[in-house]
Amino acid sequence: MNRVYLDCNATTPVEPEVLDAMLPYFSAEFGNASSIHTFGQKARAAVETAREQVAALLGARPQEIFFTSGGTESDNHAIFGIVSSSGASRPHVITSFVEHEAVLNTCQALEKRGVSVTYLPVDQDGLIDLEHLRGALRPETVLITIMHANNELGTVQPLEQIGSIAKEADVYLHTDAVQSAGKIPIDVNQFQLDLLSVSGHKLYAPKGVGALYIRGGTRLKQLLYGGHHQRGFRPGTENVAGIVGFGKAAEIARRSLANDASRLSALRDQLEHGLLHRTPHSHINGGRAPRTPNTTNLVFPGVEGEALLIALDLKGLACSTGAACSSGAVEPSHVLTAIGLPPEEARASLRFSLGRHTTQADIDFALRVVPAAVAQLRELSPTYQKAAAHD
Ligand SMILES: *Cc1c(COP(=O)(O)O)cnc(C)c1O
Repeated sequence: MNRVYLDCNATTPVEPEVLDAMLPYFSAEFGNASSIHTFGQKARAAVETAREQVAALLGARPQEIFFTSGGTESDNHAIFGIVSSSGASRPHVITSFVEHEAVLNTCQALEKRGVSVTYLPVDQDGLIDLEHLRGALRPETVLITIMHANNELGTVQPLEQIGSIAKEADVYLHTDAVQSAGKIPIDVNQFQLDLLSVSGHKLYAPKGVGALYIRGGTRLKQLLYGGHHQRGFRPGTENVAGIVGFGKAAEIARRSLANDASRLSALRDQLEHGLLHRTPHSHINGGRAPRTPNTTNLVFPGVEGEALLIALDLKGLACSTGAACSSGAVEPSHVLTAIGLPPEEARASLRFSLGRHTTQADIDFALRVVPAAVAQLRELSPTYQKAAAHD
């Protein structure tokens, strides 16, 4: 069966060139990067090359890059690290309602420990209001953590202006750039960032490797204690093969970013316009904000997103709803709720996220199967039939 994968914001396949770069580090070059002998030196050199490659993608210096187990660890490390090292008796953190769970649930854990957290609302496209951000600052504010691009909508926050506000207030700024790295340009100096999280498996490297950028001079406490790896700040024997793959993927992303962006945004726009045109009453979530080139999120009123996702999977098309399955019940996505969608529209939404391997044929396929599946499900929906009759 022909299977088309339009769920690249969930994870991406490992690029063949990335896999090739990794393979020797599972066998011939298996050394521990901390060992003094030749085996160790080769592993060390490979890790340091990867550090340079990841730094280059972000406009950072290599010594400001710390490898982690992924985006979740990087987010936890940044947020816990800054709050724990602050001298404030009751530190305050500012974030938004549309963050990834790796940030949201970390902030909620902090609240249980007496840290106060402000969750900024967003407009109907998912963007925070800069005046709200200014108004939320307090003398005790130690950290602003606002994501760069949203995983569900693709919307891109005005990070450069957020950076100026953070700088003016002398507050540390962290961003979760897991969904923007490799898709749109990032420059830690232009955005005046102190901390930034990235993950390998969202940019064609393997799962289980990521990085935290920490600006030189930033005071934050470490999360893990152990050996002297990564200057003792993030101990644990380095995942050499994973790190090598992440480095190679970052290098490829840097060189193909502009090309990928123009090709994918053209395909994305074609998919979006085609679906809007062929599916009555459908509309886009977050469509007026700047977005990553690969993402679209649409509402198909009258269908259950989960039912549509399963119907499409049976036809060979993989996509996603933003819904989280908690305690057996499907909760509408917190992001779609935050942009003001009524629950029934949030539950009728689907995300399509394209990737480097997406072809014109994949888009043509989606444009055939999605409108047909929506029509079929709507036939079965008495409420939709009734509403449509009144049009
Ligand atoms: C996937 C994702 C993460 C988590 O990264 P992992 O490497 O899977 O832990 C964090 N933030 C965003 C925005 C993501 O999309």
